[in-house]
Amino acid sequence: MLINKTRLTVITGDITNVHADAIVNAANSSLLGGGGVDGAIHRAAGPELLHECRLLHGCKTGDAKLTKGYRLPAAYVIHTVGPVWRGGHHEESKLLAGCYYRSLAIASEKALETVAFPGISTGIYGYPKEKACDVAISTVTGFLQNDTSLTEVIFVCFDEESFRLYNDRINPETIV
Ligand code: ADP
Repeated sequence: MLINKTRLTVITGDITNVHADAIVNAANSSLLGGGGVDGAIHRAAGPELLHECRLLHGCKTGDAKLTKGYRLPAAYVIHTVGPVWRGGHHEESKLLAGCYYRSLAIASEKALETVAFPGISTGIYGYPKEKACDVAISTVTGFLQNDTSLTEVIFVCFDEESFRLYNDRINPETIV
């Protein structure tokens, strides 16, 4: 399934198959691999990805770091570390917004045009999907309003429920 509203696209599927200039990884702060989408990206990219990640010496929550994509169809991986959901009063939304903002800032600095995001923090890290979707859309929309180099931001939904959440929230007012 696919919806496309100017520079925002929502699809269902596996992010490791997405042909974007960069895909974003929901990593942990060690950047040395893990479960969920992180494990899938490392498996698909091959061991060279872990070798490059070791050189980065981790990443802070809310920040992001760039590597090559190796065997992935995407040329680059932007590794970002989402917050663990702890009830909502521990700066979770600010940190999650930082993940989206920093990932797009890195892509823009590198002159990348297309970036695909998974639902950062919405798996093992337990961030409620609706709240995470609101942060993702508002942060990406805000970024794109001040950026002309990115041509497409793709939200990759791993399940139909997430696809519906994004679909329902992207309306004419969010067109960027
Ligand atoms: P986190 O630790 O940040 O919560 P997870 O990897 O556990 O990260 O989950 C983040 C989101 O990515 C979840 O919504 C999960 O369903 C989704 N996901 C898991 N595997 C993939 C994949 N291969 N492609 C796209 N999304 C995925």
